[in-house]
Amino acid sequence: MRVGLKECVWETVGDDIVVVADAREAITLSDPEGQVAALLGELSRGPRTAAELSVALARHGHVLSESEVAQGLTGLDALGLVEDADGRWTGDAAVDARHFSNLSFFGAYAGLDRPRAEFVRLLRAAHVLVLGVGGGGSTLVQCLAGLGVGRLTLVDRDQVESKNFARQFLYRHRDIGRSKPERAAEWVREYDPTIEVRAVERWITSAADLADLVEGVDLIAGGVDGHPDAGLWVNEAAARAGVPFVGGGGTPSQIMYQSVIPGRTPCLACDAADRPDEDSSAGTALRLAEKIELSNPLTGPMATLIGSLVAFEAKRHLTGFEPPRAAGGRMVLDLREGLVPEWQPFVADPDCAVCALARGRRP
Ligand SMILES: [Zn+2]
Repeated sequence: MRVGLKECVWETVGDDIVVVADAREAITLSDPEGQVAALLGELSRGPRTAAELSVALARHGHVLSESEVAQGLTGLDALGLVEDADGRWTGDAAVDARHFSNLSFFGAYAGLDRPRAEFVRLLRAAHVLVLGVGGGGSTLVQCLAGLGVGRLTLVDRDQVESKNFARQFLYRHRDIGRSKPERAAEWVREYDPTIEVRAVERWITSAADLADLVEGVDLIAGGVDGHPDAGLWVNEAAARAGVPFVGGGGTPSQIMYQSVIPGRTPCLACDAADRPDEDSSAGTALRLAEKIELSNPLTGPMATLIGSLVAFEAKRHLTGFEPPRAAGGRMVLDLREGLVPEWQPFVADPDCAVCALARGRRP
């Protein structure tokens, strides 16, 4: 394998070498013989195999066998400093240009065993069902398209209205009166014609209404509004199909996103069952909180944040570059505290019928 050095800088300080690849953290290694500095120096000249590096290092007076060099490269890999040089690009110049920043981002998570192009390939092969293309959802669609998710199914039942314009930036003034999923799908096609997109206009009134849509998708993102149980319908449909889902929402003082991996994490039904005693103050407070009717208080900065956070969690689910942060719970960002996040895990309900459904699907 040809090993490539990631973008990094270093300097020798006495017997140590200080390497910085990410501005937030410096790596200090003991390097009294200067071998690490020599290895980094050779790698910075271009991708090499361990055998080639062994020969090159010998010219600098560092006699190391091929397997000793390979060991050093494994060490650099563990520190996130090297990657499979031939997996830096997808091999298709047009795709590489289109995904330049995506490849650059995944470069930080790539290594000798996981080339950066693989992350982009996973996204391009993925099919995401987007529920709702309004507040939050319209940003979600744009972020998923930017990531290059290869197939999108967009579901909504609304038309574009002037009241959407505080926060739904996908739409234009002349779209007022048009079907949102149709217009959103058109936006995707204009943005990136290589993305396969389908618009579905449908009222969702039960888990059964989602059954045909969730089949075969890799992820469900977004949510259904208009009914207190709408989240549970998505939860059940996801469990029946064995598909993870990510949703989000907000109030004037908090924004949040949650994600569930059916059969592996507690679900929204577990969370719904985890309630304080109905007659207690806490139970009363919760009941009252659920009665508050908020008429779309999310402004543009909040709705776009929610859509972006859901898309970012989707990126975790689809590529595994890091584990989904909210999985089995709700990540709440407090607007009064400068968006400090707090993960609130769902408590698993051993009697949860929906989790039982999901577990029944597992091989
Ligand atoms: Zn459950």
